[in-house]
Amino acid sequence: MINIKKVVVGAFEVNCWIVWDESNNAIVIDPGADANKIEKAIEESGLSVAAYLLTHGHADHISALADISHKIPAELGIHPNDAKWAFTPQNSIPPFYPQPATPEKIDRSLEDKQTWQDGNLNYEIIDTPGHTPGGVCFYFPAEKLLFCGDTLFKGSAGRTDLPGGDSRVLANSLKKLKQLPGETKVYSGHGPDSTIEHEIKTNFFMK
Ligand SMILES: [Zn+2]
Ligand SMILES: [Zn+2]
Repeated sequence: MINIKKVVVGAFEVNCWIVWDESNNAIVIDPGADANKIEKAIEESGLSVAAYLLTHGHADHISALADISHKIPAELGIHPNDAKWAFTPQNSIPPFYPQPATPEKIDRSLEDKQTWQDGNLNYEIIDTPGHTPGGVCFYFPAEKLLFCGDTLFKGSAGRTDLPGGDSRVLANSLKKLKQLPGETKVYSGHGPDSTIEHEIKTNFFMK
């Protein structure tokens, strides 16, 4: 049994996802802001956090990382192509997000096709560059759940006009997501949930 809690955080209303198994082992995806709000959500369900994982490096998705991992320590994971610039001045979005604080260390270098197990949470890394060079999705094959950050949205896809963005590369990443089972639930970095099937039918970017 997998439990999912969405905590909407920060000025850009990022979906921070808390995912846990029946023994309360949790991962936290994209702690973008509001560390106190995330901490409260973790504590009110009595969870023990195995890892904080980033779908990509943009400041709106990572700005509470140093803070929350200080309050509740756990391993940190990001793709190396985004780790390079995520904690530099280049990643500030004034006036909303100053340069994200650097966490003590990155424990997990997330790469395509890795499989991870945290408690009874079993998931794969799907490399989906295009919105950023180091964008990844977290896919739970048994439960058919996809946490896709800003790669895919209900009815839309990630912008590619920011530094490191590439529309052709993103199109290729979306092609990979189209191979997933249609019933796969899609949990994006902003906005409402969807399914792969619904997006293939209705989303221009998935044509
Ligand atoms: Zn982004
Ligand atoms: Zn975003």
